[in-house]
Amino acid sequence: MRVLAGARVLDPDTGDTTRADVRLDGERIAEVGLGLAGERVDCSGGLLIPGLIDCHVHVAFPRPEPLPRSARILEAVPVLRGLLARGITTVRDAWGADAGFKHALREGWIAGPDLLVSLRQLSPTGGLGDSWEPPAGGVDHYGDPSLPDPLFDGPDAARAAVRRMVRAGADWVKVGASGAMRAVRSGADVRPTDDELAALVDEARRCGRDVLAHAHTSEAVVSAAGAGARSIEHGTFLDDSAVAALAGAWYVPTLSPISDSEFAGTHRRSLRLAAEAGVRIAAGSDLAPRPHVDLTTELRLLAEVLGEAAALKAATSEAARLLRLDDDRGRIEPGLRADLVLLDGTDLDVTDLPGRTRAVWHDGKAVSARS
Ligand SMILES: [Zn+2]
Repeated sequence: MRVLAGARVLDPDTGDTTRADVRLDGERIAEVGLGLAGERVDCSGGLLIPGLIDCHVHVAFPRPEPLPRSARILEAVPVLRGLLARGITTVRDAWGADAGFKHALREGWIAGPDLLVSLRQLSPTGGLGDSWEPPAGGVDHYGDPSLPDPLFDGPDAARAAVRRMVRAGADWVKVGASGAMRAVRSGADVRPTDDELAALVDEARRCGRDVLAHAHTSEAVVSAAGAGARSIEHGTFLDDSAVAALAGAWYVPTLSPISDSEFAGTHRRSLRLAAEAGVRIAAGSDLAPRPHVDLTTELRLLAEVLGEAAALKAATSEAARLLRLDDDRGRIEPGLRADLVLLDGTDLDVTDLPGRTRAVWHDGKAVSARS
């Protein structure tokens, strides 16, 4: 059995690092301690952190230019491979990837992180999930049974929309509790009612699923968190009432896509407010709006507000708790999955994680090694 020897090992919950060896047995961590016997892999001078978890990606987001449908799917192949090489070993897709991506990963046709899918973003007519154009009306660029119709109006229709997603293999149910930023700013923010959200969350629960809710405004956050959404995404404009509502949820701020907009400062203030109130925070990059942005960028932005240890916690142990995977991954402990990243140097500096990444293990297998 292999022993990753000589590194310091991060406890993401405390931010402490200790000198220890990590013995792997197949896809699991068998033992953490000093002087472990086995086939030694020299990790001296490095820091071992748990494989990173991105709670908000879009690995198959459409490009702005019109391309044949296969292009959107095939582009995901190098995107997934690149994420894994950078140490991102689990991702939750916030819409765009269908259940076939999971099949391809499981069969080994493509390489990538473990993937949870939500298929589409549910919303009422005129809301986030409604792609409607004045000259054409309702247009569904994804017209594909594997990415079912996300629109609903009324609580019963919300339940039916959840059932369509579960039938097509959704692990999570995504809802647009507010519209897109453009709709919010232009005063055209069509939001689901509290009754619709309550029905949607209840139906998801009956199907054994949790809900992630896109919400920019405080009203949308209060309404989605109040209905029982497990995570609130973006939360750009939080006030005290929204922060109070977040006590029962996780906050996935996705700073990256908003970081160069006029609302970047407001968004950071929202994150600071939430963190000071003790809201649980998990990391998500939103990946899609700028394909070159991934969780390593989000970690740098999170660290600027929360500090490095809290940023790493949000992308490992806390992300695993949000995804209900914490008994399987997110920390470096015996019995957990051997998803590990070896960084050069032993500090928690996250300003250039790709530049520090020496090796990645996913399910106990070495992904890449720089020597
Ligand atoms: Zn998104």
